[in-house]
Amino acid sequence: MPGNSEKVVVLLSGGMDSCVCAAMAAREQEAAAVHISYGQRTEERERKAFVGICDRLGIRDRLMVRNEALKAIGGSALTDQDIEVPESSVIGQDIPVTYVPFRNAHFLAVAVSWAEVLGATEVYIGAVEQDSSGYPDCRPAYYKAFNEVVKAGTKEGLIRIVTPLIGMKKSEIVMRGLELGAPFDLTWSCYSREDRACGVCDSCVLRLRAFREAGAQDPIPYEEVGQRV
Ligand SMILES: [Zn+2]
Repeated sequence: MPGNSEKVVVLLSGGMDSCVCAAMAAREQEAAAVHISYGQRTEERERKAFVGICDRLGIRDRLMVRNEALKAIGGSALTDQDIEVPESSVIGQDIPVTYVPFRNAHFLAVAVSWAEVLGATEVYIGAVEQDSSGYPDCRPAYYKAFNEVVKAGTKEGLIRIVTPLIGMKKSEIVMRGLELGAPFDLTWSCYSREDRACGVCDSCVLRLRAFREAGAQDPIPYEEVGQRV
């Protein structure tokens, strides 16, 4: 059980990073978890992951909401059926088409609004900069700037966004998760499939590589394990 009564809000998508982030948050404080569906291909599977992880971590205070804007706006392979999810092997140096334009700002806005109502002082988000897909809304400078927005735009100005994983390698996140007993078996990271993880999208490849480098077995089922992990 949490050691003190400090309440925090954690953004929990249901992927491996947010799961470890939630395990960290729930260990130290009383955590409330928020999940945002936005018309992404695997939204049903991610919601299932969210519920399972909350149950396992003992997080009772939950908010599950929909963002209609991101799907209507499109411009990403995750929300537009006409843009194919690329295999990791064909992704170059540019920001990949799986980037959802300015998505994390929508997520943070919801989490900060809820934190303000709950009286929570921190919002946890499992953004990772290193060996990830290179999304601009995962950079430390972005969170520093967003914290200024939160400070200026909330009643008390006391809520802080924290990014405990941002400087970690994905394999370190796996190891930390194993130490904390994070329920990786309940997580879902694949961008394209909901039955078995595809094993070849960028998210699957980064995840498989992280587990391999950590010397651990990824407990979720895969359709095929890419050669480039
Ligand atoms: Zn995949």
